[in-house]
Formats: sequence, C-alpha cells, structure tokens
Amino acid sequence: MKKELENLPDKKGHFGQYGGRFVPETLMPALIELEKAYKKYREDKEFLTKLALLQKDYIGRPTPLYHAQQLSEQLGGAKIYLKREDLCHTGAHKINNALAQALLAKKMGKRRIIAETGAGQHGVATATGAALAGLECEIYMGSEDIRRQALNVFRMRLLGAKVTEVNIGSRTLKDAINEALRDWTTNVQNTHYVLGTAFGPHPYPAMVRDFQSVIGKEARQQILKKEGKLPDCLIACVGGGSNSIGLFYAFLKDKIKMIGVEAGGHGIASGEHAARFAGGSLGVFQGCKSYLLQNDDGNVLGTHSVSAGLDYASVGPEHCYLRDMKKIEYTYATDDEALKAFELLSRTEGIIPALESAHAIAEGVKRASVMNKKSVLIINLSGRGDKDVQEVARIKGINL
Ligand SMILES: *Cc1c(COP(=O)(O)O)cnc(C)c1O
Repeated sequence: MKKELENLPDKKGHFGQYGGRFVPETLMPALIELEKAYKKYREDKEFLTKLALLQKDYIGRPTPLYHAQQLSEQLGGAKIYLKREDLCHTGAHKINNALAQALLAKKMGKRRIIAETGAGQHGVATATGAALAGLECEIYMGSEDIRRQALNVFRMRLLGAKVTEVNIGSRTLKDAINEALRDWTTNVQNTHYVLGTAFGPHPYPAMVRDFQSVIGKEARQQILKKEGKLPDCLIACVGGGSNSIGLFYAFLKDKIKMIGVEAGGHGIASGEHAARFAGGSLGVFQGCKSYLLQNDDGNVLGTHSVSAGLDYASVGPEHCYLRDMKKIEYTYATDDEALKAFELLSRTEGIIPALESAHAIAEGVKRASVMNKKSVLIINLSGRGDKDVQEVARIKGINL
C-alpha cells in the first residue's frame, strides 16, 4: 500500500482510474517530448543545482515554519504552525512551479513559454520565470478576468509578457486554458506550456507535484527540528491541488491526518461553489479524468468562490486517488467562513492571508480547538492577502 502511494502515476499517467491523457492527437508529441525532458532533467545534477540555488536566492526558500502562538492560545487546542509560502517571491507558492518549468523549457531549447491565468496569479508567476530565464512569454486570459484583474495584467506587461485576451465562451479561466492548448499545438517546436497546477494531461499532475513538493520536504525537516516529532495533522486548501499535494507528498508514508479544503462558496445546496468532492462526479475535462462539477448531460457547471484560485470545476487526479485510499480527507469552507478566518489571522498574528489560504485557516480553526494541547497542526499558508484586500473591502461595503 505504501509503495502504491509513492510510485504514481503509472507509465500512462494514471493514478488508479484517474488522470491519463485525454487530448487531441495533435498534442500528443508535445506531451511526450515534455515527459521525456522532465524525466531526464529531474535527475540532472546541473539542472537540480541551478534550481536549488534559485529556490534559495530568488524565491527565498526555505520558507519559515512559523509557530502561530497567539492563534493557538486563542483557540485553546493544538499547537498551530504556518508554512509561510506567502513569503515566497511574488507572494505565493505558484512561483515554485512556474520558475522550475521556465528553467525546464530553457533546457529543452524552447525560446517561448505560454500560460493560462484566471485571476492573474499564475500569469504573474510565469511572466516572472520568463523574465528570469530570458524567454518570450505570452499569457492567455479571459476578457472577463482581464477586466477584473487590471493590476495583474499591468504587472505581467511590466515583466515583459504579452497578455492575450480570450473573448470566447465564459471568457474566464477554462477558455484561457483551451486557447493556451491551441497555441501550444501550433507552436510546439519553440514553445513550452507552463500549466499552473497539479492538473491536466500527463505529465503535468506529477511534474507540478514534484516541483511543489519542496514545501513538504522543508516542513518535515523544520517540524522535526522544532518539535522532535512529526505533526498530527496537515491542512491545505485545494484549487487544482498543487499547494496541498506539495505539502502532503513528503508525508504520504506517515500516519498523519491530512485534510484538503475546497471552496464551499455559498454552500453546496446553493449550487454556487467549487467543492468537486462534495458536489461533483467522475468526468473528463481539459486533458484528464477526475472529479468534476457537471450536470446530468456531462456539461461542465459554472463555479463560484470568493477566492479566484479555488474557483475551478475540476481537481487534480492524484487527489481523487488519495481520497479513495483514505489517505487524505476532503472538506470545504464557505465564503463566509473564509472571510472570518481572513480577519482572524490578520488580527491575531498580523498576517493577512490570501483568501485561498483563508479556507485552510478556517478548517484549521475548527480542528485545532478540538485537538489536545500536545498535538501539532501545520497549515499551509499558500499565499499572502495583499491581492485580496480590495475585494474584501468591497464585500464589506467599504469604499476605498
Ligand atoms: C492559485 C492559488 C491556490 C490554488 O491552487 P492550488 O494549485 O490548489 O494550490 C491556492 N492559494 C493561492 C495563494 C493561490 O494563488
């Protein structure tokens, strides 16, 4: 069983019945080329040394594992630690993956990288990686998102990226992904597609997981040093699933409670949420087989979350498998719960979390208070909340 958990996916990219490679024939050569390159460079000393150096001096790793003493005391239960991915360069864990893929693209001899983005966080991370690696960069973004995220669009342009408006479908993230895939099919010779989360066709779910697993590797060493034992519980929010699998992966062999928190939006009954496990079913979407929010005819449903990073209709295939294996438990936090946690962490610890991360904090608050004082809980603080301050003010009816 332990081996089963670690040696996945199989050769065809399956995690049990999930994952795989559901793409048009025209995209297969690109995925096969990427898989080959990734397999080669993940064991290439020079590549790994360069990546490790940039993780340290550019991203700012290792990120601290911070004992949130006031929060722990206020809740009166478990000792809470926060893994501070909010302190990464550009403000979230996404740079861990974007930078590594930019370096990989360079090694593959590509001169251009492309990416999709919703709220713009992954677009900014990719544009940053491109600037550093000296690559051309084009970011696909739905026109609806471009309108809502003008500041991030300007950031990407400052970083030298071209931002291309996607004016079809719902004009949001899933349409941007389709356009990026179309571009890649046409320009595969000189272009690499930097997918932003542990999702999509093989090898992306495994590759993104591996690039994010630095989070858990560090956290494991840090907690052993601080507490002399492993934690009792790990909690992370789940959008596509990259910061969560990044934290959990180094602990899969251990007997530790792990909890993934999805976006409950306005509640499951409202239909306005992105809780794929609570409200979805098995389906194929954007290159892989996974849990999906869909209607009886298999049409993908619209989603809602107060946090753009969790607002997606499907979830990484490895999560489905680890859920079936009862290795990870999944739950959700509603918009209201996340907003309360956002304010709670700001006031008790002086840390304004990303609204995505606030979903993990909300679950952490529930769990910590019923755990005993000797137990240790690690919550992944996937990003900082600066990007969300304006939105929270708007929701609270405050005119800035
Ligand atoms: C994008 C994002 C997420 C969600 O993505 P995952 O791939 O599930 O990690 C979570 N937190 C922050 C801060 C993000 O920007």
